[in-house]
Amino acid sequence: MKYVSEFRDPAAAQGVLSAIARAADAIGATRGNPVHIMEICGGHTHAIFRYGLDRMVHDGIEFIHGPGCPVCVLPMRRVDECIQIARHPRVILTTFGDAMRVPGTRTSLMQAKAEGCDIRVVYSPLDAVELARRNPTRDVVFFGLGFETTTPSTALSIQQAARDGLTNFSVFCNHITVPPPIKALLDDPHMELDGFVGPGHVSMVIGIHPYDFIARDYGKPLVVAGFEPLDILQSVLMVLDQICDGRAEIENQYARVVPEHGNKVSLAAIDDVYETRPSFEWRGLGEIDASGLRIRSKYAAFDAEEKFGIGYATAREPQAEAEGCACGAVMTGRIKPPQCPQFGKGCTPEMPLGALMVSSEGACAAYWQFGRARITEPAA
Ligand code: SF4
Repeated sequence: MKYVSEFRDPAAAQGVLSAIARAADAIGATRGNPVHIMEICGGHTHAIFRYGLDRMVHDGIEFIHGPGCPVCVLPMRRVDECIQIARHPRVILTTFGDAMRVPGTRTSLMQAKAEGCDIRVVYSPLDAVELARRNPTRDVVFFGLGFETTTPSTALSIQQAARDGLTNFSVFCNHITVPPPIKALLDDPHMELDGFVGPGHVSMVIGIHPYDFIARDYGKPLVVAGFEPLDILQSVLMVLDQICDGRAEIENQYARVVPEHGNKVSLAAIDDVYETRPSFEWRGLGEIDASGLRIRSKYAAFDAEEKFGIGYATAREPQAEAEGCACGAVMTGRIKPPQCPQFGKGCTPEMPLGALMVSSEGACAAYWQFGRARITEPAA
């Protein structure tokens, strides 16, 4: 396991944990603990719990689980609109598997499929393009969602369909971007954040400079991190070292994968196909300025919003969550998943009430999967 085992080496981890403990003690001696570190990406949340890092680090470190799971932040209204598209008799709706069980207002894509809608799971948007090619009498729609990690592949599928002259392929675009919600969280006076572990996959596409405002305008450190245990521990230590030194910088622990200026080919595809929406709704967070992408008018023929008359009204009233669901509070770090009254009762991976329990990157799914139900009692 060359190149993986090195990042899981227990002796090396012990050394980093000791350094983290010294830094946390030093910070605690001057300003008190805990130090609140938000891991933005759901992949990091799962890695933290899979390897038990939250229990290994010094008690003075508290991980806050950020909104970096794209399925979790998908608003119910957009799920409803996607089902509305799927109900058209000519439509084959294609989606990544993660989105199938995300609850809309009344139902999910899984339930819509059970009721007869032609909904198919694909592994790439290019599979959807191929499906359109093979089914010229049907309208194939791809449910495009995700952060900058998946945005380029959807863009490439639209460019491919345009080159092929396909008229029966379109994308229901729900792509979102990471920096705006970080700004929204930093602007929230109730949030206590001392630093960030930054997303690895997103940064592979956008590079590290879109986060510059976090250090420059808010004085908080951010370290872009990989996904192995030592990656995350080292990144936490780098955040703590900055706090100890009185620095606030954007650093790149994951330089073996993340280029400083991102991936030029992916960024060019994004720029060609999308433009920024004035605002977009995030489940649990409400409307956030300039946080979503829509398809440019030159590709309007591939825009399912245009084709099926869906549209997106800006400044929509935030939609209330399902009764008893505390996803918004979890996503903003106000409570931990087991403190949601529904955790393990009205909400389990088999019968999810909120999206955080559905997705493979959701914080509630991480707590459930890796045993937090056994070590933390739900709130009364
Ligand atoms: S347990 Fe379920 S309802 Fe509660 S916050 Fe998590 S996903 Fe939402």
